[in-house]
Amino acid sequence: MLGGGSITLFHVRGIKIAVDWSWFLILFFLILTMSSNYGDALGESSTSAAPFALALASAAGFFGSIVLHELGHAFAAIRRGIGITSIQLWIFGGVAHMDRESDSPKVEFEVAVAGPAVTFGVILLCSLIGALVAGFGEFGQALRLAVELHSDPDVSGVASMFAWLAAINAFVLVFNLLPAFPMDGGRIARAIIWARTGNRTKATRIAATMGRGFGYLFIGGGLALIALGDVFGGIWLALIGMIVNGAARGVAMQTALTSRIDGIRVADVMDREPVAIPGDISVERALDEYFLRYRWPWFPVVDAAYRFLGLLQRDRADEVPEVSRASSNVSELVDADRGLFVRDDTPLDALLSNQNLRRFGALMAVDAEGRLSGVITVEQVGRALRDT
Ligand SMILES: [Zn+2]
Repeated sequence: MLGGGSITLFHVRGIKIAVDWSWFLILFFLILTMSSNYGDALGESSTSAAPFALALASAAGFFGSIVLHELGHAFAAIRRGIGITSIQLWIFGGVAHMDRESDSPKVEFEVAVAGPAVTFGVILLCSLIGALVAGFGEFGQALRLAVELHSDPDVSGVASMFAWLAAINAFVLVFNLLPAFPMDGGRIARAIIWARTGNRTKATRIAATMGRGFGYLFIGGGLALIALGDVFGGIWLALIGMIVNGAARGVAMQTALTSRIDGIRVADVMDREPVAIPGDISVERALDEYFLRYRWPWFPVVDAAYRFLGLLQRDRADEVPEVSRASSNVSELVDADRGLFVRDDTPLDALLSNQNLRRFGALMAVDAEGRLSGVITVEQVGRALRDT
């Protein structure tokens, strides 16, 4: 499936794994250099079967490790009630897109640390398999060679492959743990400062400043690498520097903005007592009394206790054949996606990064008992940002 430059590869427990075209550049480059490395190591031509197969397996292993890292973040987030819209891989690694920010330093820390923890597990597993397959001596030699980017005909291809996977993941781990917000280490740093000061805005500001500093450092390091002759590595590092710097600057600007709505909750700006369709009426009545009357594209649906059941889209109701409209219940058609509603005591700034709000234009607000208490729209959030 193609869309917006990204290709959906597969789903893991409902989470979409998608790749950007730039990811194929990395895979292509990896397979090319790895097959030549393995060719040297095995004393064969890089185009013969064994080096090429090892290179493919290495690329697949690397791809799998990055997906596992992001799934680590994703499952930690989901466990804490944060929705994951997708995992996207591109030339600089992966990103797990969350539908909102963490609401406590503990959650922020857990989600940030889960990815590196998985990567650490992958390093251990690769080392274990490598040592079991090749023996400790040979695997140790393979690890040394992988770090020095050399090859040696005495080391088997399989040992070299696991050594390379362990080494590249160790690089990913260390690099990710640098306190360069918004990378994992920067998020961990923000969580710690947030926990110490109790002030999320201040923590974000400090982390973003560190992120910008690291961004400049990476750019400088990249230029130095280019000067030393490592053009590809240098460009890659400099570009990461620019991305980290830009992202940290964006977050710092957003924080300056959101500090203006500190303390404001969804309930303070939402529309109260929204029109809702009772879940037990027929589709025919819903169309007559709600859709045709108000001409809105959707309505919230509630049960007898006014608990929010989900949304009913006009299209879904229209799709029901006319003969069965009188006998079908509205509650059978609702979209009960968790991402479509928020608690009405949610801080307003937590909605700023909410993908569903942006896409849908509005979210339903529910109280502590799950009863529909209001509707919050993008316009209301925007107005709160301007007026305060
Ligand atoms: Zn990560």
